[in-house]
Amino acid sequence: MKTIGLIGGMSWESSAEYYRLINQEMKARLGGHNNARSLMATVCFEEIKALQHAGQWDELAQLMQQAARRVQAGGADFVLLCTNTMHRVAPAIEAALTVPFLHIVDPTAHALRTAGIRRVGLLGTRFTMEQDFYRGRMRDMHGIDVVVPDLAGRERVHAIIYEELCHGIVRDGARADYQRIIAGLAAQGAEGVILGCTEITLLIGQGDVALPVFDTTALHAQAGVALALS
Ligand code: GLU
Repeated sequence: MKTIGLIGGMSWESSAEYYRLINQEMKARLGGHNNARSLMATVCFEEIKALQHAGQWDELAQLMQQAARRVQAGGADFVLLCTNTMHRVAPAIEAALTVPFLHIVDPTAHALRTAGIRRVGLLGTRFTMEQDFYRGRMRDMHGIDVVVPDLAGRERVHAIIYEELCHGIVRDGARADYQRIIAGLAAQGAEGVILGCTEITLLIGQGDVALPVFDTTALHAQAGVALALS
C-alpha cells in the first residue's frame, strides 16, 4: 500500500471528511483493520483565505509548495490537495514535487464521462467558478462543457462556503438556496452538477437534488485510495 500525502486545512471541516473517507474506503476494499497509510500537512485557513481574497496567488503558490514538500519529505508516494480552489496553483505544486500530484478535476471528469455527461453545472467558490483553471481543464483535457450560476447565484454559493460551511455551519436555508441555484443550472442545460468545493458535501447530497451529483471530495478520496493500491 502506498502512502497518501494530503494538503489540508482548507478548511479543516473538509479535511476531516477526506480523512474519514479515505480510511472508510480502504477498509471497504481490504477489510479487517486496514486503513489508509497517510499523512497530512495542515495550513492555517485564516491566512489562506485572506491571501485568496487579496488575489495573492504567487504567495499562495509558495505556501502550497512548502506544504507539498513537507508531505513528500514525510514519505508520501503521491499528493492530494484537499480543496478545489487551491488547484488554481496546481502547476506550481507539481513543479515542487518529484512524486505524482492527483489533480481533483481528473477523477471528477472521469466520473462525468463514465456517466455520459458532456455539459455540467459547477458550484464552488467564486475563484473556482469564475477563473479558468478548473473549467479550462474540464474543457481542454476532458471535453466537458461547464456552466455556472449567474452573478447573484455565484455570490450566494461563495458566501455560504466561507461564512457557513467552512465554520461547520449547515443550515436548511442554505440548502434551499443551493437547490434553487442547481435548478437554474439544469435550466441552462446542465446534465449533472459538480460539488466543486470540498465542504459542499456537508450541505447537500444526491437525495437533495434531481440532477446527478458529482461530489469532488468523495471522488478525489476514492481516487486516492485506488492509486494507493495500484
Ligand atoms: N474547500 C473549498 C474548495 O474546495 C474552499 C476553501 C478554499 O478556499 O480552499 O474550494
